[in-house]
Amino acid sequence: MDMLNHTVQESMLGASMDLEIFQKCVQSNIVLLTQVVCRKLVIPDFEQFTLNINRLYENIRSIKEGEVANYIPQLAKVSPDHWGVSLCTVDGQRYSVGDTDVPLCLQSCVKPLKYAIAVNDLGTNYVHQYVGKEPSGLRFNKLSLNFQEKPHNPLVNAGAIVNCSLINQGANKAEKFDYIMQFLKRMAGNEFIGFSNATFQSEKETGDRNYAIGYYLKEKKCFPEGADMVSALDLYFQLCSIEVTCQSGSVIAATLANGGICPITGERVLSAEAVRNTLSLMHSCGMYDFSGQFAFHVGLPAKSGVSGAILLIVPNIMGVFCWSPPLDRIGNSVRGIHFCHDLVSLFNFHHYDDLRHCAKKLDPRKETRETQHKTVVNLLFAAYSGDVSALRRFALSAMDMEQKDYDSRTALHVAAAEGHMDVVRFLIDGCKVNPFVEDRWGNIPLQDAIKFERHEVVKLLTEYQETYVKRQMGAETSEEQMSLENLESMV
Ligand code: GLU
Repeated sequence: MDMLNHTVQESMLGASMDLEIFQKCVQSNIVLLTQVVCRKLVIPDFEQFTLNINRLYENIRSIKEGEVANYIPQLAKVSPDHWGVSLCTVDGQRYSVGDTDVPLCLQSCVKPLKYAIAVNDLGTNYVHQYVGKEPSGLRFNKLSLNFQEKPHNPLVNAGAIVNCSLINQGANKAEKFDYIMQFLKRMAGNEFIGFSNATFQSEKETGDRNYAIGYYLKEKKCFPEGADMVSALDLYFQLCSIEVTCQSGSVIAATLANGGICPITGERVLSAEAVRNTLSLMHSCGMYDFSGQFAFHVGLPAKSGVSGAILLIVPNIMGVFCWSPPLDRIGNSVRGIHFCHDLVSLFNFHHYDDLRHCAKKLDPRKETRETQHKTVVNLLFAAYSGDVSALRRFALSAMDMEQKDYDSRTALHVAAAEGHMDVVRFLIDGCKVNPFVEDRWGNIPLQDAIKFERHEVVKLLTEYQETYVKRQMGAETSEEQMSLENLESMV
């Protein structure tokens, strides 16, 4: 986008952009630009939406409860005041507020990501030979297995450690780490993915509980054949220490919201199966011992980590990454949980919100009345001033060319009254609009042309009305014909 901005600025100063440069500029934002041109953005009034997000962010800033995790110095020394929220829609619209470019460790937020990688590479059946799908009902780092002697799910420590032994089997330690880093980088649309070696060393030094889990898993033969438990643990600690920013984290979340296709690059990074499994498990097991309540109140898949991060997915709409280090007693970010609650109180994003009848919540997926009004005004003004190229642009962006204003007047009424032959021609030949729409006084465009003595337009519209009627009748008879044929073929 920077390149595009730069070139647009230059062209404003008189420099021009040839096709090749234009292609270069747009290729990294092709998904977003296509959606913009087709007016198919998932959140049409993004500006209004971000004003609301900002309001939620500011309201939550005053909350000071919670304690920063202190089991390792690298987490203990992080300022409790950090507070950032980034979001990225499935079509690549971005918004960030607060501390969104500060690196932070993913910690447990990496668990669903490595599970997604495992399912992507190995398939559901293989992965679930080694790990369950059920919430454990126990603390995330408990030494416990399900009735089949497997870890309860991939989002508790036992499951995540086994998960580490599944990915890229046969590769050496360095290759495995590189492989996952590259994968995450692609999920993040090539944005920031870092690594905190200090955190990794501390995790390893203080990881007695995880070692205990590792030995227990080994005793119960939970690893695939040939897997080395200590290497799996090592990879587990490394992955907890991978860094993102809220901004890059929100692109990862958006890739999950978008069925595995990164909205920034357009690349399919994960299979649809991997994403669906991952979101299902995040929904039931992602928020430690608050998962049931979170699923009830927020109704969205999410995963939190001890660094105070929350990866939140609004499927088919957007990914959110929020970060505030102070945690509640369960281990979730206090501000982060507030944000998730407030988000679904304001917008109808809860999985079970009634999209059709719920009038109390906002639906940012819909075009607001204000934007609809703006498009009608633009359309009629273009017809009034004879601006065919603007009309062509509107038609290409899938705009309804038969829209009416508050007097029920259409672009064709206006162009006919003004005598703009080329506009009338474009509307009837290019857009095939209905010439019989009546305005609030009961007039059709032809009557306007007659009234204002636009003789050429009168001739053109009279002919067009005839062909329009014939075409309509033809369409009806061919529809009847088709349904008759259908009936016959059924009999
Ligand atoms: N490094 C932590 C552990 O394995 C992960 C904590 C978390 O974010 O849940 O215990």
